[in-house]
Amino acid sequence: MESVGVGLIGTGYMGKCHALAWNAVNPVFGDCPDIRLVHLAEVSEDLAAAKARELGFEKSTAAWRAVVEDPQVDVVSITTPNAFHAEMAIAALEGGKHVWCEKPMAPAVADAVRMRDAAVKSGRAAVLGYNYIQNPVMRHIGALLEAGEIGAVHHVRFEMDEDFMADPKAHFFWKSEAASGYGALDDFAVHPLSLIHTLLGPVSSVMADMAKPYDRRPLSDGGHRPVETFDVASVLLRLESGAAGTLCVSRSAWGRKGRVAMQIFGSEGAILFDQERMNEFQLYRNQGHSANQGFSTILASPDHPPYDRFLPAPGHGLGFNDQKVIECRQLLSAMSGDPAHVIDFEEGLAIERTIHAMARSFEEGRWADVPR
Ligand code: NAD
Repeated sequence: MESVGVGLIGTGYMGKCHALAWNAVNPVFGDCPDIRLVHLAEVSEDLAAAKARELGFEKSTAAWRAVVEDPQVDVVSITTPNAFHAEMAIAALEGGKHVWCEKPMAPAVADAVRMRDAAVKSGRAAVLGYNYIQNPVMRHIGALLEAGEIGAVHHVRFEMDEDFMADPKAHFFWKSEAASGYGALDDFAVHPLSLIHTLLGPVSSVMADMAKPYDRRPLSDGGHRPVETFDVASVLLRLESGAAGTLCVSRSAWGRKGRVAMQIFGSEGAILFDQERMNEFQLYRNQGHSANQGFSTILASPDHPPYDRFLPAPGHGLGFNDQKVIECRQLLSAMSGDPAHVIDFEEGLAIERTIHAMARSFEEGRWADVPR
């Protein structure tokens, strides 16, 4: 590939992150094709035109199909609310485009299956926005686990918490609607599951509980509306590896701003990580005299590639958006048919099946197997 034409649908929180990543990927990595920001879609012509100017796109439209049908577009970033992902991703793949779609795949597992099938049929790269697997520290933790540095993993604890819905006065919005999925499972649980899949392998069975801290929320233009999604979920896990674990997620956890925390316990040690301090992790090894044993804190450095592509100095730190730049570089590898560290639509479907098993477990009040 000498050059890549980019389309973008949706320019909110994640749309800007994708646009920044497309702008940065070549300056950071220096080994990519020429990136051309071709066509951007938003809900109105005015908003689309303003965002195209801001983000550096050549053309704008209020009709997203114009992006997926544009012959100058090779890859489409889909950063719209969950309910739109399936239709947009399938149309893009059927139009011969590569796809970079935000998580989750789709609220209905049948739509996630259709997305996977469209990806397989197209032969195009179809990559999901599971950015936390791209943190150089996380890549290093994966290497440590692979090398058996903490022995055989027998117990894991994962959490993802934020507080953007903690205030009972927070407005009802698209994440409160059933059309977006179950709630915290689709919005949050999928992220720790992307880490579990990448570091430890798939989940085999689950036992879940879900909760709605607030039954109704105020509307921005007055009145109230019943909340249709669950902001909280607590899940017991069994991994295919045999390890046991827990996964707890909340969008209503006051004080938690971007917690994606994990504790991994093995026969020879333990590893701790929290995304709120994404430039460090803690390692415990059962070595030496017990009087001197304790966790060591290891700071991100150029020895954790591709940190070195951003900074030559250790301990200075990367940020959330840098993970997106790395994800973008991996997507370009996938588009070239090279090995890529990504969650594609096949593995994404396994994650979707896992959250649907959690919802089934909650509805039936018992353990549920995750279908393969
Ligand atoms: P957002 O509301 O900030 O942005 C969505 C944008 O899509 C809005 O600008 C909206 O106008 C636009 N849009 C809606 N319908 C459209 C249409 N038909 N055509 C064109 N544009 C349309 O939402 P967000 O927080 O950016 O979430 C978007 C997606 O990103 C969700 O699926 C969410 O789960 C995911 N997300 C991922 C992460 C992550 O860490 N990977 C973080 C936040 C959100």
